[in-house]
Amino acid sequence: MSQPGNDDLVFIDDDSTSPLHSQHVQVPTPWRILVVDDDRDVHEATEFALAGTQILGRPLQLLHAHSGRHALETLSAEPDIAVILLDVVMDNEDDGLKTVGAIRQDLKLSNTRIILRTGQPGQAPEADTITRYDINDYKTKSELNQNKLFTTLTTAIRSYDQLLRLDTSRRGLEKIVAASNQFIAEQGLQAFAEGVITQIASLIGVSPDGLVCAIDDEPDSRSSVPEFRIIAAAGRFSHLIQHRLSDIDHPHIIANLTQALRTQQSLIAERDVTLYFRKSKDEGFAAYIDSAIPICDVDQNLLEVFCTNIALCAKNVDLVTELRRDAFLDRLVGLPNRTALIAEINERLRRGARNEVLAVVDVDQFAATNDVLGHQYGDALLKATARRLRSRFGNEVFVARLAGDAFAVLGQPTEVNADHIQRSFAQPFQIEGVDHRVSVSSGLVEMDETYENGPELLKDSYIALRRAKAQGMSQSVLFSRAIGFESRERAQLLRDLRQGFDNQQLFLAFQPQVNLATGEVFGAEALLRWRQPDGSMVPPDRFIPVAEQSSLIIGMGSWLLEAALRSLHRFRAAGFPEMRMAVNISPVQLRQPDFFNLIQRALQATNTSPHNLELEITESVAVGGLDALIPLLDQLRQQGISIALDDFGTGYSSLSYLDRLPASHLKIDRSFVRALRCDGNGARIARTIIMLGREMGMTVIAEGVEDAATADYLLELGCNEAQGYHFGRPMIEGEFLNWLDQQAVRKIA
Ligand code: C2E
Ligand code: MG
Ligand code: MG
Repeated sequence: MSQPGNDDLVFIDDDSTSPLHSQHVQVPTPWRILVVDDDRDVHEATEFALAGTQILGRPLQLLHAHSGRHALETLSAEPDIAVILLDVVMDNEDDGLKTVGAIRQDLKLSNTRIILRTGQPGQAPEADTITRYDINDYKTKSELNQNKLFTTLTTAIRSYDQLLRLDTSRRGLEKIVAASNQFIAEQGLQAFAEGVITQIASLIGVSPDGLVCAIDDEPDSRSSVPEFRIIAAAGRFSHLIQHRLSDIDHPHIIANLTQALRTQQSLIAERDVTLYFRKSKDEGFAAYIDSAIPICDVDQNLLEVFCTNIALCAKNVDLVTELRRDAFLDRLVGLPNRTALIAEINERLRRGARNEVLAVVDVDQFAATNDVLGHQYGDALLKATARRLRSRFGNEVFVARLAGDAFAVLGQPTEVNADHIQRSFAQPFQIEGVDHRVSVSSGLVEMDETYENGPELLKDSYIALRRAKAQGMSQSVLFSRAIGFESRERAQLLRDLRQGFDNQQLFLAFQPQVNLATGEVFGAEALLRWRQPDGSMVPPDRFIPVAEQSSLIIGMGSWLLEAALRSLHRFRAAGFPEMRMAVNISPVQLRQPDFFNLIQRALQATNTSPHNLELEITESVAVGGLDALIPLLDQLRQQGISIALDDFGTGYSSLSYLDRLPASHLKIDRSFVRALRCDGNGARIARTIIMLGREMGMTVIAEGVEDAATADYLLELGCNEAQGYHFGRPMIEGEFLNWLDQQAVRKIA
């Protein structure tokens, strides 16, 4: 701590003594002296000797007691007795010393000075008694002439005065320490500054009426002169909080605070103090406290220690505020983070807000953009998204960044709704000088009375978001009870599926694929089946999406790939060497970094040629971005593996995707195949797909062929391959082998 320099404190009209005496005309408080003696003459002689005497500028006031007991009674009743002139021998030999013991131990008056007076030198107490009871002086009565009495009393009073100051300082320091601890725990500068007012007031013993003022962070005008703002106010000044200092109606306070802040010095006056707290060379704040009664006897050193300490605390408060801000702020985009959002939701719930909406907004295909264009670009995109959201919604709407490419918007449904969110991204962003069109998906949830806290609300909005994402790009889904129920059901289904997979409840069915022209069976599609312990079957359309949303699809996918190839091995060994196996691959599997190696391992383990494997992918693989996917598919095709685009025509792929995807086969979705029979719109689509596939050099295969007429029609249209109940239903391995045998027999026949 720096040496307290006098330049920090300016005493207005001070009498230049160290303690802060007030300067008004006032009768000084007398020093109170208690004379204890059983001899009336001694009382009178003492009165006489001290009449009119002043010590350290203050008169004396004598109090009288005639016995030890009487002395103790007086001391209990009368405060501020500076000195006791005490007769050693009164009623008893040791009456005087007993009284001293009681004063120090029972009454705990440690500052009061005691001067023992005795008749004879022989009555002097032992040296250790003098020390133990902190006896100031010991004089025989004859020794104490008027002069001696004056000097002895002066010494005692000075000592008493110093002890008192020390005491005040100690109490002040204790307060400062306690205050420091409290300040650190306080939240923010305003609470801290209010604490400063309370502490100063208690230190100088006045009621906490005051103001704390600092340089305005956001001045209204662009004036070069610094403006000051009232950052805390207490007592009768409370209403002035946040006012500009120059706007308040107290010229005296304005003058004092301005002077303190400009000169960086404290000002002590008769009825007010203005303390300056220096946080750094050119940063600080000032507090003004006033008092209805004169402020007396404030220790200068103590105030300086106080100011230094508080300034230190203020620095810590800045630090804590900074840390707190860090904990609640997303540094990259400058928006509140997830923690802040949850706190905000909790706060709004606590206030009874019930009709608001929380939307989680997710940037579509962000991962792909980040991969392809780099992280710097990705960051720029996130910042632009944050700015866009912030600028499109009003101030009452809370906008936060949750994580990665997910943002949250919380507010009234008139503002926070699917339409508004989607429209906010209608205009492209300008990033690095280039237009970037962004689409977002969002999950919305209404804050109704069923929600008790932020995480619950957030969880449901994420469920809605997942639903929206599953529907494709630019989708919004409002959470409903049904969705919530379904999501819980799905969670249960996932648990069951995990267990089912571990307990071998999953198996494969094989559906034949035939050449329409020759009737030849050239392959099979492996279709996953799940029979639950109660014998019921769960359709793959239900459990595969659930597996895809967890890592389960990875393990399951590699198991079924190998299982399908092992079956293929047996089909070929049974006399069908040209058979090909088509395996469905979900987009999640394709995005596995070691997918290519996984295929290699499966081929090797089952001794299968790549030419006998077909991978069925759907158009939805395009959602995850094509840039990483195309080289992988190229690599697989170069090896001889066929790639089929499954369910073609139902997805959201554009023709340009089709052009870029290195697929060898197109599978027309069964909905179009079914429509062929009625020759409506679906029929036209089927015909177009067949033409398109042929045009692009792809083999077109129709799925869901249920009757001979459709099969014939397809062949007519130029589709050579087909799959469907008309030829054979999905069958387990043994059935399939039997079926194959029957086909062969039929063919021979
Ligand atoms: P998909 O890949 O398009 O499979 C064809 C679906 O059509 C199969 O349904 C099959 O049983 C059914 N189907 C075949 N012929 C006919 C027909 O003539 N009429 C009708 N109405 N339906 C026919 P399934 O087995 O229920 O599979 C449904 C979907 O589940 C599959 O569609 C595929 O997307 C997925 N799936 C099945 N197995 C797997 C798998 O091993 N891995 C992955 N990733 N997905 C699979
Ligand atoms: Mg398929
Ligand atoms: Mg299909």
